[in-house]
Order: sequence, then C-alpha cells, then structure tokens
Amino acid sequence: MARGLETEVQYLKGVGPRLAPGLAKLGLATVGDVLHHLPRRYEDRRNVPPIRNARPGQWVTIRGRIADVSTRTVRGGMVILKAHVQDGTGVIGLTWFNQPWIARKLQTYRGEIVAYGMVKEANLLLEIASPEYELLDEDADHEDFARIVPVYPLTEGVHQKTVRRAVRSALETYLSLVQDPLPEGFRKRHTLPPLGWCLKQVHEPESDDAREKARTRLVFEEFLYLQLQLAMARAQTQQELGISFPISSLEKGEDHGSRRAEQTVRDATGKASSVLAEDQNLVDAHLFEQEEVAKRSGIPLWDQIHAMLPFDLTGAQRRVIQEIFRDMERPAPMNRLVQGDVGSGKTAVAACAMLAAVRSGYQAALMAPTEILAEQHYANLHRLFEPLGIEVVLLVGKQSKKERDLAVRKTADGTAKIAIGTHALIQGGVSFGHLGFVVVDEQHRFGVLQRAALRDKGLGNPDVLVMTATPIPRTLTMTLYGDLDVSVIDELPPGRKPVKTHWKKPFERSGVYDAVQKLLHEGRQAYVVCPMISENEKVSAQAAEDLHDRLQTGALKDWKVGLLHGQMKAKEKEEKMLQFRAREIDVLVSTTVIEVGVDVPNASVMVVEDANRFGLSQLHQLRGRVGRGEYQSYCILIADARTDDAIARMEIMRETNDGFKIAEEDLRLRGPGELVGTKQSGNLDLKIADLVRDAKQLERAREAAIQLIAEDSELGSPDHAGMLEKVRQRREKAALITVS
Ligand code: ADP
Ligand code: MG
Repeated sequence: MARGLETEVQYLKGVGPRLAPGLAKLGLATVGDVLHHLPRRYEDRRNVPPIRNARPGQWVTIRGRIADVSTRTVRGGMVILKAHVQDGTGVIGLTWFNQPWIARKLQTYRGEIVAYGMVKEANLLLEIASPEYELLDEDADHEDFARIVPVYPLTEGVHQKTVRRAVRSALETYLSLVQDPLPEGFRKRHTLPPLGWCLKQVHEPESDDAREKARTRLVFEEFLYLQLQLAMARAQTQQELGISFPISSLEKGEDHGSRRAEQTVRDATGKASSVLAEDQNLVDAHLFEQEEVAKRSGIPLWDQIHAMLPFDLTGAQRRVIQEIFRDMERPAPMNRLVQGDVGSGKTAVAACAMLAAVRSGYQAALMAPTEILAEQHYANLHRLFEPLGIEVVLLVGKQSKKERDLAVRKTADGTAKIAIGTHALIQGGVSFGHLGFVVVDEQHRFGVLQRAALRDKGLGNPDVLVMTATPIPRTLTMTLYGDLDVSVIDELPPGRKPVKTHWKKPFERSGVYDAVQKLLHEGRQAYVVCPMISENEKVSAQAAEDLHDRLQTGALKDWKVGLLHGQMKAKEKEEKMLQFRAREIDVLVSTTVIEVGVDVPNASVMVVEDANRFGLSQLHQLRGRVGRGEYQSYCILIADARTDDAIARMEIMRETNDGFKIAEEDLRLRGPGELVGTKQSGNLDLKIADLVRDAKQLERAREAAIQLIAEDSELGSPDHAGMLEKVRQRREKAALITVS
C-alpha cells in the first residue's frame, strides 16, 4: 500500500477501518488530505493560566481535576449537568445540556481535564457552558501536556483525539514524501518556507511565530493557484484574435476608420487567415456598405460624444472611456468590468463605447437582465443615437411577432447598429450582420455561459464590456473577476443630492409614515420594502401582502398603495413597475424583488422595514432606488437593533453613501458568501485562506502569478509542472461546480 500521500487514511497507525469513516465525513480520505487538514485554533498548554485568573467574558483554557458532578432535570425535561473543576487556585463550573453520557464518563474519572470556552458568571461562581473538553488520561499520549496543541474542526461523532492521532501518524510516516509544488527559485523569490516544514509547523508548532509563517505560506499557495488559473485564462484571451477598432483615427476625425480596422485584423490573423477566410469575405462585402456610415464620422470622435450627451462627462467617466478605448484599439479581445455605484453614469460610458464601435463599422449589443431594464436602456439610448442617424432596436420576449421579426431582420442585415435586449438576444433565430461590441449589464445575473453564447454570435471575438452596480471589495474582484480588467467610476455626476439616511426604532413607525405622507403631498412617490423573512417565497409574499393591507387601510389609506413580490408572474411584476413609473401608484410595497437599476426619478423615499434582516450591500442597493432625480431623497431604516453589531451596521448606513466602503464592511461582517450578487464566491473553494484577513497575501499571490505567467504563459517549463498540476485540479473542480 505504498501509494504515498494517496494512501487511504485507514492505513494510518491508530486509525484503521473502524475510525476511517469518521474521518471521511470530514473530507479526509487520503494521507494527503489529513496533512492539509488545518487546525481551527491552538491551545498553548505550556502555561495554562490558573483558574483564579479567569474573568467573565474571556475565552479561556483551564486545567484541573473534577471535584464533583451533579445533574438535575428542569422544566421541559432538559437535563443539566454540572461539574466543578479545581486546580488549587480556584474552582470553575462546567455545564452541559442533555448529554447524560458525559455525566457517566465524568463520574468515574479521576484524572485531569482540559476545557475551553467563554467564562460567565452564574450564582457568584464562574462557569463555562458547553465547553470543548478533553480528558487527558484518556489519551494515552502524554505528549499533549506541555506543548501548543492543535484543535481541529470536527463533525458529529469524530473525536479530537482521532484527528490528532491521524495527523501525528501521517506526519511521522509520510512527511518525507511530501513534494513541494513550488520550485525552490520561486520560493526564494517570495520568501516562502518549504511545504514539508510548513505542514509540520501548522500541526505541531515549535512557536507561534513558526506556525504563523507556515500558515502564511499555505494561504499564499492557495491564492496562488487560483490566481494562476485566472492569469492563464487572461493570457489565453490575450492571444486570441479580436477586433482592433481604429479609435485613434476616429479621435482625429479621419474618415477611413473601418477599412483600417479590418486591415489590422488581417495582419494580426497571420496563419489563422485560412480558417477565417469565409468570415473575411462577409466582412469585406459588409465593409463596403459600412464605408458610408464610417465616412459620415469625419468629425473627431470626442466631438461626436460631446454632441451626443446632454451633459459633460465626469472625470471618472472620461478616464474609464479612455481605458475602454485603449482596449478596443488593441487586437486582443477586450474583457473589461466597469464598476460604478448606482447613478454613477455607467450607461453613458457604455453609450460612448458603442458609438466608437459603430463608427468603426460594427454593430453593438447591450444585454440587460430584465425586460424592464432593457426597455429603460432602449428608451435612453434610442434618444441619444437617433439624432446621429444610428438605428437602435429592442429585442425582448414579450414583443409581438411582427415587432420581433422586424427587429431580428434589422439586426441580421445590419440596418440596426445597436440591439438592446434581454436573454432574447442570445436565443436562436437572432443573428448579427457584424457584431463587434457587447455590453452586459449587471453581470451577476448572467451566467458565464450566456456571455459566451452572445460572444459567439459575434464576428470572431467581439469586445466585451461588463457593467455592474454591485460594489465589490477589491479582494473579491481580484478573485471573482480576476480574468477581467477592471475600471471603476468612482465619482458621481455633479449636483446630485446624496440620499439622507435615517435610522428609526419600531416605536417611531407612525412618525415615519407621517413623513412619507408629507413627501407624497409634495408629489413624490415612495417605496416600502419588507424583508424576505424566510427562504420560502410564499411566506415572504404573505408578509408583503399583510404590510400592504395594513398600510392601505391604515397609515396610507388616502393613497394608492401597490404591491410587488416574488410570487407574482413576471408580467404582473412588470405591469406594477410600469404603473409605478407612470405615477398611477403612489407607494409601492414590495419584497426585495425591486429590480436593480430601475429608474423612477420621482420616487424620493425608501422605507425599509426590519432593516437589520438585510445585508449592508443589500440595503445600499435598495437605497439606490431613490435619489435618482432632482429631489432630495431619503432612506428610512426601521430597525430594532440591540446588539453592538446591529447598531454598528445601522450607523454605517447612516454615515456613508460609499458602496465600496459598505461592501468592505459587509464582507468583514458576513463573509463572501453573503454579498449580494456574488453567489459565485462559493466557487472560490478556499479552504485555508480568508479573503478579509489574508487580503495582503492575496495581493502578493496575484502579483506573483501575473509575473510567472508573463514568463511562462502555459506553465510549460518542467520547473512549473507541480503548479500546473494544482491549477489543473482547481480547474476541473470549478468546471464541475459550474455545470451542476
Ligand atoms: P448607472 O447606470 O451607473 O446607475 P446611469 O448611467 O443610469 O447610471 O446614470 C444615472 C443618471 O445620471 C442618468 O439620468 C444619466 O443621464 C445621468 N448622468 C450620467 N452621467 C452624467 C453626467 N456626467 N452628468 C450629469 N448627469 C449624468
Ligand atoms: Mg444602469
């Protein structure tokens, strides 16, 4: 059975077939798994503090002998077990609930016990409820006595001892077989200790310092494989043949833009040209037709932009457009993410890029996650482009056959230069004459596959611009979207009045609705959001209905109150939104289904009931529904926050309108899985590393990965074989997750 680190755990000394299934529950199938199963925390048993020093509120480890054990049954049949432990300096109580077998064990036990937990004061005595504990005599191994002891994450029915024994045996017999995937030169360059040493130190640390160094390397390594995977994907895109838009000549106002574009493509194709020959003919035929359009653009591109937009671009918008233009000009396909808080003017940026694509002789498409958003974009962009003689069409599911057929035809023959739509854009039957530029709005609603499908409709590889209003902390952007270049619009158009946020307690509710009425009297509209109180949509819909009825018959009985929730059909929802936009409804009560990006400038107040049930990023998204017009807008959070954490969260909402700051805070408080729009973060599959705590290592690993891929884009050198294998394993796993 000498299969090295692939050896099954049952062959480890002290494990055997009896204990192996328990370890399997922890995901530990092989010796290698065991070596990489990291402790959750450590206990320094070299000097356990005396019981006398324990104070309420502290997390402590205590060690002593059991003085007495008692159980009593309380109302409801719960059995409470209490044991007193003394160490010569003091006494502390340990309590357990409904675990009679512990009582049986402790009653006959004469040796020492070690326990860990939070100290509380109870009836003048200190105690620890439901402590983690170990009976030292039970463990034949007295080595644990005076050292730093690892405490592993466990699962039901698996003992700390079992895991420790497995780890110890794995270290003894197999550590020498561990091969470091990171070559020595690379390790030196980044001051990383060897893997074998690190595994030893994380399980059996010589010192806190050594243990921390070891963990740091493992964290770095975990991030490294992820970043290598992303950097390789990027490098691959960079090598693909894309379109080189003649931006520089357009900027100068030269009128032979489109021809030059194709020239560049041809040059860049080189040997690929035979494969593309057929497409190329199409392009040539088409170009001829497009020449006219392109010629009309004799005006410098930026002058056209200024003429098109009814406002001056902000500095941030201009910078981001420049970044996009430089990408468009390069022959490699663009893959850029534009992040900008709600209202930062992403649509205008997309419009400028689409204009450049059209003036280069290509079509552009914009894909939105919902029909209502697609229509909104259509209305805005149609208004901008029509005066320039650029035809824009809308393609959504609910159109009549006639409307749709017309739009499809114009898209196919190239009459329409810009197509806006939902998923309908990537469905069968839709084709583009010469699609060169694709904008995807609110990326998180789209699967990667859909993006690829739309790309595939393009001519070869269109440039892709992804826009999202979900502020994502930099660490998450680097991991989730590491294969994209990122631009941030970090400035709002001038003259915006920031939304004023208030936090009110439930008993102040009637005052809140008085204030809402005052705004309604001034002609404004309001949203009232009730929380998704459960995963169950039906239950939440019921809650929204109740709130709606209460408001309609009570506080807001003089107004038209509408209702919107997830149980309604898409068409009903759409209708409700349209009614609200048309001001047929004064107040819209809803669950969180209000669409991201929906624009009703007349709505100036957002009331969120039970606000502490929402994540900060979610509250920020909701707040972004107001403050979109000229009116001073308000966000009123009704929350009965009692804990420090809950209070802190409300305070943050009051203090800042900065979505990125809020997202950072959300990440810190709730972890990556909870952030709105970043469900994919589950795919990150990080075992050791923590995106918040280890942000610095992430940054280092990213730089190292980029540097490495610049030197060896496919990790083909024999030195890099170990890393390549790790990246491959990651990729296979990710593929499984994506498909399922
Ligand atoms: P986002 O999509 O980022 O939420 P939009 O592009 O919808 O933002 O812009 C929000 C509003 O601000 C729109 O009404 C738009 O016309 C306006 N706007 C965009 N850029 C500017 C600007 N530079 N100056 C003034 N108004 C702007
Ligand atoms: Mg938008």
